[in-house]
Amino acid sequence: MLTRNPQETWTQFLEFAEERCSATEFANWLAPIKVLESSSQELILEVPNIFVREYLIDNYKRDLSAFLPLRENGEPAISFVIAETKKTTPLPARPTLPPEDKEPQSSQNELKLNPFYVFSNFIEGPSNQFVKSAALGVAARPGRSYNPLFIHGGVGLGKTHLLHAIGHYIKEHHKKLRIQCITTEGFINDLVDNLRNKSVDKMKRFYRSLDVLLVDDIQFLQSRLNFEEEFCNTFESLIQQNKQIIITSDKPPGQLKLSERMIARMEWGLVAHVGIPDLETRVAILQHKAEQKGIRIPHKVAFFIAEHIYNNVRQLEGALNRLSAYSRLMGLEVTEEVVEKTLGELLQHAPQKKISVENILKSVSSIYDVRVSDLKGLSRTKEVAFPRQVAMYLAKELINESLIRLASSFGGKTHSTLLHAWKKIAGQMESDEMLRKQIQMARRNLEV
Ligand code: ADP
Ligand code: MG
Repeated sequence: MLTRNPQETWTQFLEFAEERCSATEFANWLAPIKVLESSSQELILEVPNIFVREYLIDNYKRDLSAFLPLRENGEPAISFVIAETKKTTPLPARPTLPPEDKEPQSSQNELKLNPFYVFSNFIEGPSNQFVKSAALGVAARPGRSYNPLFIHGGVGLGKTHLLHAIGHYIKEHHKKLRIQCITTEGFINDLVDNLRNKSVDKMKRFYRSLDVLLVDDIQFLQSRLNFEEEFCNTFESLIQQNKQIIITSDKPPGQLKLSERMIARMEWGLVAHVGIPDLETRVAILQHKAEQKGIRIPHKVAFFIAEHIYNNVRQLEGALNRLSAYSRLMGLEVTEEVVEKTLGELLQHAPQKKISVENILKSVSSIYDVRVSDLKGLSRTKEVAFPRQVAMYLAKELINESLIRLASSFGGKTHSTLLHAWKKIAGQMESDEMLRKQIQMARRNLEV
Protein backbone atom coordinates (compact mmCIF):
# COMPACT_ATOMS: atom_id res chain seq x y z
CA MET A 1 0.00 0.00 0.00
CA LEU A 2 1.37 3.43 -0.88
CA THR A 3 1.43 5.56 2.21
CA ARG A 4 1.29 8.84 0.28
CA ASN A 5 -0.33 9.69 -3.00
CA PRO A 6 1.70 8.49 -6.01
CA GLN A 7 2.77 11.94 -7.21
CA GLU A 8 4.01 12.86 -3.78
CA THR A 9 5.93 9.62 -3.44
CA TRP A 10 7.57 10.17 -6.79
CA THR A 11 8.43 13.80 -6.03
CA GLN A 12 10.11 12.74 -2.83
CA PHE A 13 12.07 10.11 -4.67
CA LEU A 14 13.13 12.69 -7.27
CA GLU A 15 14.36 15.03 -4.56
CA PHE A 16 16.38 12.19 -3.16
CA ALA A 17 17.78 11.16 -6.55
CA GLU A 18 18.56 14.70 -7.66
CA GLU A 19 21.17 14.99 -4.97
CA ARG A 20 22.75 11.79 -6.05
CA CYS A 21 23.30 12.23 -9.76
CA SER A 22 24.64 14.88 -12.09
CA ALA A 23 22.32 17.57 -13.45
CA THR A 24 22.63 16.14 -16.98
CA GLU A 25 21.86 12.67 -15.80
CA PHE A 26 18.83 13.99 -13.96
CA ALA A 27 17.59 15.97 -16.93
CA ASN A 28 18.14 13.12 -19.42
CA TRP A 29 16.93 10.17 -17.47
CA LEU A 30 14.76 11.13 -14.52
CA ALA A 31 12.97 14.35 -15.43
CA PRO A 32 11.13 12.82 -18.45
CA ILE A 33 9.42 10.20 -16.29
CA LYS A 34 5.75 10.85 -15.57
CA VAL A 35 3.51 9.46 -12.88
CA LEU A 36 0.35 7.89 -14.23
CA GLU A 37 -2.95 7.38 -12.49
CA SER A 38 -2.15 4.72 -10.04
CA SER A 39 -3.76 2.17 -7.84
CA SER A 40 -3.01 2.54 -4.19
CA GLN A 41 -0.96 -0.63 -4.37
CA GLU A 42 1.75 0.46 -6.73
CA LEU A 43 3.34 3.33 -8.57
CA ILE A 44 2.80 3.43 -12.32
CA LEU A 45 5.34 5.41 -14.29
CA GLU A 46 5.33 6.41 -17.91
CA VAL A 47 8.82 6.33 -19.39
CA PRO A 48 9.70 7.57 -22.87
CA ASN A 49 11.49 4.33 -23.80
CA ILE A 50 12.87 1.14 -22.30
CA PHE A 51 16.29 2.64 -21.74
CA VAL A 52 14.88 5.02 -19.18
CA ARG A 53 13.17 2.14 -17.44
CA GLU A 54 16.41 0.14 -17.41
CA TYR A 55 18.35 3.11 -16.17
CA LEU A 56 15.96 3.59 -13.30
CA ILE A 57 16.00 -0.07 -12.33
CA ASP A 58 19.73 -0.51 -12.75
CA ASN A 59 20.61 2.51 -10.70
CA TYR A 60 17.82 3.05 -8.22
CA LYS A 61 16.05 -0.21 -7.56
CA ARG A 62 17.44 -0.44 -4.08
CA ASP A 63 16.54 3.16 -3.28
CA LEU A 64 13.06 2.77 -4.74
CA SER A 65 12.53 -0.12 -2.38
CA ALA A 66 12.93 2.33 0.48
CA PHE A 67 10.28 4.67 -0.94
CA LEU A 68 7.74 2.10 -2.03
CA PRO A 69 5.99 -0.89 -0.57
CA LEU A 70 7.49 -4.23 -1.57
CA ARG A 71 5.71 -6.98 -3.42
CA GLU A 72 5.71 -10.54 -2.16
CA ASN A 73 8.77 -11.32 -4.25
CA GLY A 74 10.69 -8.50 -2.58
CA GLU A 75 10.59 -6.20 -5.62
CA PRO A 76 9.41 -2.59 -5.20
CA ALA A 77 5.78 -2.13 -6.23
CA ILE A 78 6.28 -0.21 -9.42
CA SER A 79 5.28 -0.77 -13.00
CA PHE A 80 6.01 0.97 -16.25
CA VAL A 81 4.23 2.10 -19.34
CA ILE A 82 6.46 2.75 -22.30
CA ALA A 83 5.27 5.91 -24.02
CA GLU A 84 6.59 5.00 -27.45
CA THR A 85 4.63 1.76 -27.67
CA LYS A 86 1.53 3.18 -26.05
CA LYS A 87 0.33 4.75 -29.22
CA THR A 88 0.29 2.29 -32.05
CA THR A 89 2.01 4.36 -34.67
CA PRO A 90 1.28 2.91 -38.09
CA LEU A 91 4.31 1.45 -39.83
CA PRO A 92 5.67 3.42 -42.71
CA ALA A 93 4.88 1.68 -45.98
CA ARG A 94 7.58 0.91 -48.51
CA PRO A 95 8.48 4.17 -50.26
CA THR A 96 7.01 4.48 -53.72
CA LEU A 97 9.66 6.96 -54.83
CA PRO A 98 12.47 5.68 -57.03
CA PRO A 99 15.47 4.77 -54.84
CA GLU A 100 17.62 7.76 -55.76
CA ASP A 101 14.96 10.13 -54.48
CA LYS A 102 14.64 8.24 -51.24
CA GLU A 103 14.18 10.67 -48.41
CA PRO A 104 16.00 9.92 -45.18
CA GLN A 105 13.57 7.14 -44.44
CA SER A 106 10.86 7.31 -41.91
CA SER A 107 12.09 4.16 -40.21
CA GLN A 108 15.44 5.86 -39.67
CA ASN A 109 13.71 8.62 -37.78
CA GLU A 110 12.14 6.07 -35.54
CA LEU A 111 15.34 4.20 -34.99
CA LYS A 112 15.82 4.09 -31.25
CA LEU A 113 19.40 3.48 -30.26
CA ASN A 114 20.94 4.16 -26.90
CA PRO A 115 23.28 7.10 -27.55
CA PHE A 116 25.95 5.72 -25.21
CA TYR A 117 26.17 2.37 -26.96
CA VAL A 118 28.76 3.22 -29.61
CA PHE A 119 31.92 1.36 -30.58
CA SER A 120 34.17 3.98 -29.04
CA ASN A 121 32.60 3.29 -25.63
CA PHE A 122 33.03 -0.45 -25.95
CA ILE A 123 36.19 -1.61 -24.20
CA GLU A 124 37.97 -4.47 -25.81
CA GLY A 125 39.64 -7.45 -24.15
CA PRO A 126 40.30 -11.10 -24.94
CA SER A 127 36.71 -12.05 -24.08
CA ASN A 128 35.12 -9.78 -26.66
CA GLN A 129 37.78 -8.91 -29.24
CA PHE A 130 36.50 -11.39 -31.77
CA VAL A 131 32.88 -10.39 -31.47
CA LYS A 132 33.74 -6.70 -31.60
CA SER A 133 35.75 -7.07 -34.77
CA ALA A 134 32.97 -9.14 -36.32
CA ALA A 135 30.52 -6.36 -35.39
CA LEU A 136 32.77 -3.73 -36.90
CA GLY A 137 33.18 -5.83 -40.04
CA VAL A 138 29.45 -6.10 -40.50
CA ALA A 139 28.92 -2.41 -39.79
CA ALA A 140 31.54 -1.43 -42.35
CA ARG A 141 30.19 -3.70 -45.12
CA PRO A 142 26.56 -4.51 -44.36
CA GLY A 143 25.31 -7.55 -46.25
CA ARG A 144 28.72 -8.25 -47.67
CA SER A 145 30.65 -9.93 -44.87
CA TYR A 146 29.00 -12.28 -42.39
CA ASN A 147 25.30 -12.72 -42.68
CA PRO A 148 23.62 -13.13 -40.31
CA LEU A 149 25.91 -12.18 -37.47
CA PHE A 150 24.72 -13.99 -34.37
CA ILE A 151 26.02 -12.62 -31.05
CA HIS A 152 25.45 -14.66 -27.91
CA GLY A 153 26.54 -14.49 -24.29
CA GLY A 154 25.38 -14.01 -20.70
CA VAL A 155 23.44 -11.13 -19.20
CA GLY A 156 25.03 -7.69 -18.99
CA LEU A 157 28.06 -8.48 -21.14
CA GLY A 158 27.49 -5.95 -23.89
CA LYS A 159 25.35 -7.67 -26.52
CA THR A 160 22.83 -4.86 -26.79
CA HIS A 161 25.69 -2.36 -26.65
CA LEU A 162 27.33 -3.97 -29.69
CA LEU A 163 24.04 -4.27 -31.55
CA HIS A 164 23.32 -0.56 -31.13
CA ALA A 165 26.93 0.29 -31.96
CA ILE A 166 26.46 -1.43 -35.33
CA GLY A 167 23.27 0.60 -35.77
CA HIS A 168 24.96 3.91 -35.00
CA TYR A 169 27.86 3.13 -37.30
CA ILE A 170 25.66 2.19 -40.24
CA LYS A 171 23.45 5.22 -39.69
CA GLU A 172 26.48 7.43 -39.86
CA HIS A 173 28.44 5.75 -42.64
CA HIS A 174 25.74 4.33 -44.89
CA LYS A 175 23.12 7.02 -44.74
CA LYS A 176 21.00 5.59 -47.54
CA LEU A 177 20.38 2.25 -45.91
CA ARG A 178 17.05 1.51 -44.32
CA ILE A 179 17.75 0.16 -40.90
CA GLN A 180 15.57 -1.01 -38.05
CA CYS A 181 16.46 -2.16 -34.55
CA ILE A 182 13.89 -4.23 -32.71
CA THR A 183 13.67 -6.32 -29.63
CA THR A 184 12.10 -9.68 -30.26
CA GLU A 185 9.30 -8.61 -27.97
CA GLY A 186 8.87 -5.50 -30.11
CA PHE A 187 8.58 -7.63 -33.23
CA ILE A 188 5.93 -9.81 -31.63
CA ASN A 189 3.99 -6.78 -30.38
CA ASP A 190 4.17 -5.24 -33.81
CA LEU A 191 2.84 -8.38 -35.35
CA VAL A 192 0.01 -8.61 -32.83
CA ASP A 193 -0.97 -4.97 -33.45
CA ASN A 194 -0.90 -5.45 -37.18
CA LEU A 195 -2.91 -8.65 -37.00
CA ARG A 196 -5.50 -6.75 -35.01
CA ASN A 197 -5.54 -3.91 -37.51
CA LYS A 198 -5.52 -6.31 -40.45
CA SER A 199 -2.39 -4.65 -41.74
CA VAL A 200 0.00 -7.57 -41.65
CA ASP A 201 0.86 -7.22 -45.31
CA LYS A 202 1.97 -3.68 -44.73
CA MET A 203 4.16 -4.81 -41.88
CA LYS A 204 5.63 -7.60 -43.97
CA ARG A 205 6.40 -5.14 -46.74
CA PHE A 206 8.05 -2.83 -44.27
CA TYR A 207 10.33 -5.42 -42.72
CA ARG A 208 11.16 -6.95 -46.05
CA SER A 209 12.16 -3.62 -47.51
CA LEU A 210 14.84 -3.02 -44.89
CA ASP A 211 18.55 -3.12 -45.66
CA VAL A 212 19.65 -3.84 -42.13
CA LEU A 213 17.67 -5.53 -39.39
CA LEU A 214 19.00 -5.58 -35.81
CA VAL A 215 17.21 -8.03 -33.55
CA ASP A 216 17.81 -8.05 -29.80
CA ASP A 217 17.18 -11.04 -27.52
CA ILE A 218 15.96 -13.66 -29.97
CA GLN A 219 15.54 -16.10 -27.06
CA PHE A 220 12.11 -14.53 -26.50
CA LEU A 221 10.98 -16.14 -29.73
CA GLN A 222 11.16 -19.54 -28.04
CA SER A 223 7.78 -21.23 -27.73
CA ARG A 224 6.07 -18.52 -29.77
CA LEU A 225 5.38 -20.80 -32.69
CA ASN A 226 3.29 -18.56 -34.95
CA PHE A 227 5.59 -15.64 -34.50
CA GLU A 228 8.60 -17.79 -35.14
CA GLU A 229 7.30 -18.72 -38.54
CA GLU A 230 6.64 -15.12 -39.52
CA PHE A 231 10.04 -14.11 -38.24
CA CYS A 232 11.70 -16.90 -40.16
CA ASN A 233 9.98 -15.83 -43.39
CA THR A 234 11.11 -12.24 -42.91
CA PHE A 235 14.57 -13.47 -42.15
CA GLU A 236 14.81 -15.59 -45.30
CA SER A 237 13.43 -12.89 -47.49
CA LEU A 238 16.05 -10.40 -46.26
CA ILE A 239 18.98 -12.79 -46.43
CA GLN A 240 18.07 -13.79 -49.98
CA GLN A 241 18.39 -10.15 -50.97
CA ASN A 242 21.77 -9.89 -49.19
CA LYS A 243 20.30 -7.62 -46.57
CA GLN A 244 22.20 -7.63 -43.30
CA ILE A 245 20.77 -9.26 -40.19
CA ILE A 246 22.33 -9.10 -36.75
CA ILE A 247 20.85 -11.09 -33.89
CA THR A 248 21.64 -11.26 -30.18
CA SER A 249 20.73 -14.07 -27.84
CA ASP A 250 21.54 -15.37 -24.39
CA LYS A 251 22.40 -18.80 -25.84
CA PRO A 252 24.04 -20.12 -29.00
CA PRO A 253 21.58 -21.05 -31.80
CA GLY A 254 21.78 -24.80 -31.14
CA GLN A 255 20.63 -24.39 -27.56
CA LEU A 256 17.56 -22.33 -28.38
CA LYS A 257 14.24 -24.12 -28.38
CA LEU A 258 13.39 -23.07 -31.90
CA SER A 259 12.61 -25.00 -35.07
CA GLU A 260 15.47 -26.69 -36.88
CA ARG A 261 14.81 -24.44 -39.84
CA MET A 262 15.24 -21.31 -37.75
CA ILE A 263 18.37 -22.65 -36.01
CA ALA A 264 19.94 -23.61 -39.31
CA ARG A 265 19.28 -20.12 -40.70
CA MET A 266 20.90 -18.49 -37.71
CA GLU A 267 23.98 -20.65 -38.08
CA TRP A 268 24.37 -19.68 -41.74
CA GLY A 269 26.61 -16.74 -41.06
CA LEU A 270 28.95 -16.10 -38.17
CA VAL A 271 28.19 -17.11 -34.59
CA ALA A 272 30.25 -15.04 -32.14
CA HIS A 273 30.41 -15.32 -28.39
CA VAL A 274 30.83 -12.47 -25.95
CA GLY A 275 32.42 -13.74 -22.77
CA ILE A 276 33.01 -12.46 -19.27
CA PRO A 277 35.75 -9.83 -19.38
CA ASP A 278 38.96 -10.66 -17.55
CA LEU A 279 40.25 -8.56 -14.68
CA GLU A 280 42.28 -6.08 -16.75
CA THR A 281 39.36 -5.47 -19.09
CA ARG A 282 37.01 -4.96 -16.15
CA VAL A 283 39.39 -2.38 -14.73
CA ALA A 284 39.56 -0.63 -18.10
CA ILE A 285 35.75 -0.63 -18.40
CA LEU A 286 35.39 0.83 -14.91
CA GLN A 287 37.89 3.55 -15.58
CA HIS A 288 36.29 4.43 -18.88
CA LYS A 289 32.83 4.66 -17.30
CA ALA A 290 34.19 6.66 -14.36
CA GLU A 291 35.83 9.11 -16.70
CA GLN A 292 32.57 9.54 -18.59
CA LYS A 293 30.75 10.29 -15.38
CA GLY A 294 33.46 12.67 -14.27
CA ILE A 295 34.48 10.61 -11.23
CA ARG A 296 38.09 10.07 -10.28
CA ILE A 297 38.90 6.57 -9.15
CA PRO A 298 42.45 5.62 -8.27
CA HIS A 299 43.71 2.63 -10.21
CA LYS A 300 44.11 0.61 -7.05
CA VAL A 301 40.46 1.13 -6.15
CA ALA A 302 39.22 0.29 -9.64
CA PHE A 303 41.25 -2.87 -9.41
CA PHE A 304 39.72 -3.70 -6.05
CA ILE A 305 36.18 -3.30 -7.35
CA ALA A 306 36.86 -5.24 -10.53
CA GLU A 307 38.38 -8.04 -8.56
CA HIS A 308 35.23 -8.42 -6.49
CA ILE A 309 32.52 -7.85 -9.08
CA TYR A 310 33.37 -10.10 -11.90
CA ASN A 311 30.65 -11.67 -13.91
CA ASN A 312 28.57 -8.89 -15.27
CA VAL A 313 29.46 -5.47 -16.61
CA ARG A 314 26.08 -4.06 -15.69
CA GLN A 315 26.75 -4.82 -12.02
CA LEU A 316 30.08 -3.13 -12.35
CA GLU A 317 28.32 -0.02 -13.64
CA GLY A 318 25.74 -0.21 -10.86
CA ALA A 319 28.53 -0.31 -8.31
CA LEU A 320 30.14 2.72 -9.89
CA ASN A 321 26.88 4.67 -9.80
CA ARG A 322 26.34 3.89 -6.18
CA LEU A 323 29.90 4.79 -5.36
CA SER A 324 29.74 8.09 -7.18
CA ALA A 325 26.47 9.04 -5.48
CA TYR A 326 27.92 8.27 -2.08
CA SER A 327 31.21 10.02 -2.56
CA ARG A 328 29.52 13.09 -4.01
CA LEU A 329 27.02 13.24 -1.22
CA MET A 330 29.58 12.84 1.50
CA GLY A 331 32.19 14.92 -0.29
CA LEU A 332 34.68 12.08 0.04
CA GLU A 333 37.51 10.88 -2.17
CA VAL A 334 36.93 7.38 -3.50
CA THR A 335 39.17 5.18 -1.40
CA GLU A 336 39.11 1.45 -0.73
CA GLU A 337 37.48 2.18 2.60
CA VAL A 338 34.67 4.14 0.95
CA VAL A 339 34.26 1.31 -1.54
CA GLU A 340 33.88 -1.27 1.18
CA LYS A 341 31.41 0.88 3.04
CA THR A 342 29.23 1.61 0.00
CA LEU A 343 29.46 -1.65 -1.86
CA GLY A 344 29.56 -3.97 1.13
CA GLU A 345 26.87 -6.42 0.12
CA LEU A 346 27.79 -6.37 -3.53
CA LEU A 347 31.33 -7.34 -2.72
CA GLN A 348 30.27 -10.20 -0.49
CA HIS A 349 29.29 -12.17 -3.53
CA ALA A 350 32.95 -12.75 -4.23
CA PRO A 351 33.95 -16.35 -3.70
CA GLN A 352 35.91 -17.08 -0.58
CA LYS A 353 38.15 -19.36 -2.49
CA LYS A 354 39.37 -19.16 -6.06
CA ILE A 355 38.07 -22.20 -7.90
CA SER A 356 40.58 -24.02 -10.07
CA VAL A 357 40.42 -27.10 -12.27
CA GLU A 358 42.58 -28.86 -9.68
CA ASN A 359 40.03 -28.17 -6.92
CA ILE A 360 37.24 -29.42 -9.15
CA LEU A 361 39.11 -32.60 -9.98
CA LYS A 362 39.73 -33.24 -6.29
CA SER A 363 36.12 -32.66 -5.37
CA VAL A 364 34.81 -34.86 -8.20
CA SER A 365 37.35 -37.58 -7.49
CA SER A 366 36.16 -37.84 -3.91
CA ILE A 367 32.49 -37.96 -4.86
CA TYR A 368 32.92 -40.67 -7.52
CA ASP A 369 35.83 -42.39 -5.86
CA VAL A 370 38.24 -42.19 -8.79
CA ARG A 371 41.81 -40.93 -8.87
CA VAL A 372 42.61 -37.42 -10.09
CA SER A 373 45.31 -38.90 -12.32
CA ASP A 374 42.68 -41.10 -13.99
CA LEU A 375 40.42 -38.12 -14.55
CA LYS A 376 43.27 -36.41 -16.35
CA GLY A 377 44.25 -39.58 -18.19
CA LEU A 378 42.95 -41.21 -21.33
CA SER A 379 40.81 -44.03 -19.99
CA ARG A 380 37.38 -44.15 -21.58
CA THR A 381 35.82 -46.65 -19.22
CA LYS A 382 32.49 -45.45 -17.92
CA GLU A 383 33.72 -45.28 -14.32
CA VAL A 384 36.27 -42.67 -15.28
CA ALA A 385 34.79 -41.01 -18.35
CA PHE A 386 31.56 -39.99 -16.64
CA PRO A 387 33.13 -38.25 -13.60
CA ARG A 388 35.56 -36.62 -16.01
CA GLN A 389 32.62 -35.17 -17.92
CA VAL A 390 31.09 -33.95 -14.67
CA ALA A 391 34.38 -32.23 -13.81
CA MET A 392 34.47 -30.65 -17.26
CA TYR A 393 30.91 -29.44 -16.82
CA LEU A 394 31.80 -27.85 -13.49
CA ALA A 395 34.94 -26.26 -14.89
CA LYS A 396 32.99 -24.55 -17.67
CA GLU A 397 30.27 -23.45 -15.25
CA LEU A 398 32.49 -22.16 -12.48
CA ILE A 399 35.71 -20.91 -14.02
CA ASN A 400 35.96 -17.84 -16.15
CA GLU A 401 38.58 -19.09 -18.60
CA SER A 402 38.71 -19.95 -22.28
CA LEU A 403 37.55 -23.46 -23.16
CA ILE A 404 40.93 -24.18 -24.71
CA ARG A 405 42.76 -23.40 -21.49
CA LEU A 406 40.27 -25.28 -19.35
CA ALA A 407 40.45 -28.33 -21.60
CA SER A 408 44.22 -28.35 -21.52
CA SER A 409 44.14 -28.52 -17.70
CA PHE A 410 42.43 -31.91 -18.10
CA GLY A 411 45.64 -33.51 -19.26
CA GLY A 412 45.56 -31.84 -22.66
CA LYS A 413 42.04 -32.51 -23.90
CA THR A 414 40.54 -30.44 -26.73
CA HIS A 415 37.99 -27.72 -26.26
CA SER A 416 35.43 -29.64 -28.30
CA THR A 417 35.73 -32.58 -25.89
CA LEU A 418 35.03 -30.19 -23.04
CA LEU A 419 32.10 -28.60 -24.79
CA HIS A 420 30.66 -32.01 -25.64
CA ALA A 421 30.97 -33.06 -22.00
CA TRP A 422 29.29 -29.86 -20.83
CA LYS A 423 26.37 -30.33 -23.22
CA LYS A 424 25.93 -33.96 -22.28
CA ILE A 425 25.92 -33.33 -18.54
CA ALA A 426 23.74 -30.23 -18.80
CA GLY A 427 21.23 -32.28 -20.82
CA GLN A 428 21.30 -35.24 -18.48
CA MET A 429 20.85 -33.03 -15.43
CA GLU A 430 17.40 -32.08 -16.65
CA SER A 431 16.07 -35.58 -16.02
CA ASP A 432 18.58 -37.12 -13.60
CA GLU A 433 17.88 -36.15 -10.02
CA MET A 434 20.82 -38.15 -8.69
CA LEU A 435 23.25 -36.38 -10.97
CA ARG A 436 21.87 -33.00 -9.94
CA LYS A 437 22.49 -33.90 -6.30
CA GLN A 438 26.04 -35.04 -7.02
CA ILE A 439 26.78 -31.83 -8.84
CA GLN A 440 25.25 -29.78 -6.07
CA MET A 441 27.48 -31.58 -3.63
CA ALA A 442 30.58 -30.97 -5.70
CA ARG A 443 29.71 -27.30 -5.96
CA ARG A 444 29.17 -27.01 -2.26
CA ASN A 445 32.57 -28.55 -1.61
CA LEU A 446 34.11 -25.98 -3.89
CA GLU A 447 32.33 -22.87 -2.85
CA VAL A 448 32.75 -23.02 0.91
P1 ADP B 1 23.50 -7.45 -22.57
O1 ADP B 1 22.68 -6.95 -23.71
O2 ADP B 1 24.56 -8.43 -23.00
O3 ADP B 1 22.70 -7.96 -21.42
P2 ADP B 1 24.27 -4.68 -22.36
O4 ADP B 1 24.72 -4.46 -23.77
O5 ADP B 1 22.96 -4.13 -21.97
O6 ADP B 1 24.35 -6.23 -21.99
O7 ADP B 1 25.43 -4.15 -21.39
C1 ADP B 1 25.21 -3.85 -20.02
C2 ADP B 1 25.99 -2.62 -19.64
O8 ADP B 1 27.37 -2.92 -19.64
C3 ADP B 1 25.80 -1.49 -20.64
O9 ADP B 1 25.71 -0.27 -19.96
C4 ADP B 1 27.07 -1.54 -21.49
O10 ADP B 1 27.43 -0.25 -21.94
C5 ADP B 1 28.08 -2.06 -20.51
N1 ADP B 1 29.15 -2.85 -21.17
C6 ADP B 1 29.15 -4.17 -21.42
N2 ADP B 1 30.30 -4.56 -22.00
C7 ADP B 1 31.05 -3.45 -22.13
C8 ADP B 1 32.35 -3.19 -22.67
N3 ADP B 1 33.12 -4.16 -23.18
N4 ADP B 1 32.82 -1.91 -22.61
C9 ADP B 1 32.06 -0.94 -22.09
N5 ADP B 1 30.83 -1.11 -21.57
C10 ADP B 1 30.32 -2.35 -21.58
MG1 MG C 1 20.62 -6.88 -23.92
